[in-house]
Amino acid sequence: MSLRFVIARFQHETNTFSPITTPLESFYPQWGADALTNQTGARTAMAAFIDAAKSIGASIQTPVTAYANPSATVDAIAYQAICDAICLAVAAGCDAILLDLHGAMVASGTDDGEGSLLERIRKIAPHIPIGVALDLHANLTPRMIANCDVMLSFKTYPHIDMYETGEQVAHLVLAMLKKEIKPYMTYRQLPILSHTLRSNTNEGAMQRVVKQALAIENEKGILGTSILAGFSLADFYDAGMSVIVISDERHPNAKMIAEKYAEQLAQQIMDLADDFIYTSAPSQNSIDEAINLQQKSGSGPVLLLDHSDNVMSGGTCDTTDILELALATGLNNLATGPIADPITVNQLLKIGLEKKCTIALGNRSGWTYQGKPKKPFILEGVVRTIHSGDILVSGPIFTGSILRMGPSVLFETQQAQIVISSERVEPYDLGVMLELGIEIENKSFVLLKSRMYCRPVFTPLCKGLIECDSDQGGPTSSNYARFDFQKVRRPIFPLDALPG
Ligand SMILES: [Zn+2]
Repeated sequence: MSLRFVIARFQHETNTFSPITTPLESFYPQWGADALTNQTGARTAMAAFIDAAKSIGASIQTPVTAYANPSATVDAIAYQAICDAICLAVAAGCDAILLDLHGAMVASGTDDGEGSLLERIRKIAPHIPIGVALDLHANLTPRMIANCDVMLSFKTYPHIDMYETGEQVAHLVLAMLKKEIKPYMTYRQLPILSHTLRSNTNEGAMQRVVKQALAIENEKGILGTSILAGFSLADFYDAGMSVIVISDERHPNAKMIAEKYAEQLAQQIMDLADDFIYTSAPSQNSIDEAINLQQKSGSGPVLLLDHSDNVMSGGTCDTTDILELALATGLNNLATGPIADPITVNQLLKIGLEKKCTIALGNRSGWTYQGKPKKPFILEGVVRTIHSGDILVSGPIFTGSILRMGPSVLFETQQAQIVISSERVEPYDLGVMLELGIEIENKSFVLLKSRMYCRPVFTPLCKGLIECDSDQGGPTSSNYARFDFQKVRRPIFPLDALPG
């Protein structure tokens, strides 16, 4: 009789400071057979799980795939419904459980979204192997580790190894089923709230530590390693950086070597602690730097990245601080967007193409500065393009999927071309601009609300890149002084000094 695998995907990176709520609809959940269809052939960890199960002729149960863009604490009803579906499938009996989770979910009723789910599953199926793939920005908790057998995260940011991480986890779980290995898993939590901009695995401290983790994976008796940057804007006890090392208990000294390497990686991170912290420059300095860069030789526009409002970290996608400052400073021939403002899109759809009008753009999602709501940005211009907002993603992230911006327009002012969308979307595909008619290579400046996801596709076309944070903060600002942390364990760097 073939083995029965339960495979599910439940992903949310919770920004507890975000004003964007997270109801069930935000997850676009696909249940049962629809989840299988949805994920088959995707480049996700769940797709790798499906392929692995198929490779041994296992029967596959996919109770759900549910992914929501980062936003505030997950609603209790959403959390319950998705967890119930997974637990019900497990309760029906299975031989292995493979879960594609993010690892930084805070839900109403439990700060440890993944840990609580895994604990529940473990109670239902205490002796069934559980393998989990995590995002590199997971906030690891003791409860997560205690309630699964294999847990590993992506090793790239921008994340281009989701599928490969799923493959690695599935491979270990299949080996467990064949009794070829017996995983021993250990971890370390580090007292560091790293900045997302410092978790780029192509540079700096993160690159060095991940390189070391990969080298350790080749050591005898080691089955896997992970370096987790954590997600700092989830204000709960366990937020922060961490390390996972898995060894094979069949190997002599398995526990000792796992502990030794976990300690080594933890020490390396502590030694590099300063390099995981990012200090934002004043906005005006960033804009001035962009102007200087534009005047230098080289082709293509200068890319400005507004990381104070980054959708993939819980941004509202509708703040306009940086755009206002850029235009006030005199930047011309600038392309920007998407800025999510369904009210303005509706108004512009009624007005139609090529008619001069004045709009009040953005700042509608409840983000405040010094306790006061911000005002929309008043702009004059015309609509050049109207688009359904469905963008076929050319990759390399989420290749082949549809990015849904909702009804969208290209609004053109004297200085700028602005993509205004109905939905909050991270610009991780060129289509968000190309499809609306923007010729990126002919622009002087491109301003995106993004930290990292846009880089693989936009940077090759650009002369250079400038990171911008708003002086007024933003839902994903890198300036932690703008946030009121209450629950995270203390002391933690950089909110507190590094422990001596
Ligand atoms: Zn991530």
